Amino acid sequence: MYRKNIFSIVIAVFVMALAACTPTTVATDTSNSTVVPTAISAATSDVASTTSPSSIAPTETVATAVNSSAESMDPNLACSGGKTSASVTPELTEGPYYKAGSLEQADLYQTGMAGTKLIVTGYVYDTNCQPVANALLDFWQADANGNYDNSGYTLRGHQFTDENGRFQLTTVVPGLYPGRTEHIHFKVQAPNGQLLTSQLFFPGVAQNDSDGIYNADLLLSIQESSDGWQGQYNFVVPAS
Ligand code: FE
Repeated sequence: MYRKNIFSIVIAVFVMALAACTPTTVATDTSNSTVVPTAISAATSDVASTTSPSSIAPTETVATAVNSSAESMDPNLACSGGKTSASVTPELTEGPYYKAGSLEQADLYQTGMAGTKLIVTGYVYDTNCQPVANALLDFWQADANGNYDNSGYTLRGHQFTDENGRFQLTTVVPGLYPGRTEHIHFKVQAPNGQLLTSQLFFPGVAQNDSDGIYNADLLLSIQESSDGWQGQYNFVVPAS
């Protein structure tokens, strides 16, 4: 009887010892569980990387939108046709007829205005061909008879590029005046950037060759149609 009790106690102690060992095993499992956060962390980073593409998606969408718009642009223009760098648009003299304080207006055409209606579209890019949003464009020009409005602001107006760097100017084809070929004056400036002054020209005008200011790098790309002309030009400003 006494031996049985002793044996029972020994068994009990052995079982307890085993039981005491079990937490050690659990502790090991617990230490393994500290690996779990790493796995979770990895999983989280996977989630993050899964999230990233979706957060990039809008940018890709915008880029696609720009590219699809750019596809309709003349590939010979600056930053068009897949080009990734460009020279800054050449500067030319301001001339005597600039007036500060023009209205913010992209449509300078007025009903009944003489001359051929002209819509110029394009983009403002930096020298890395990145579109410049909210860039200032200030246009002024002679009317179809070669006269500037120096008392008012007819055919004068400024505008800002949209979020894709795009602009649109509605106007008329300017006329000739003594000593000059057809041209549209402009100023362009990226936000907080350098103000650049120059002039746009028209292809196929005989007086281009005799105009000392004319620069072929400033030629509009023109498509003529019965209801007006479509012009394209991409301005390039210094990268910020
Ligand atoms: Fe002029």
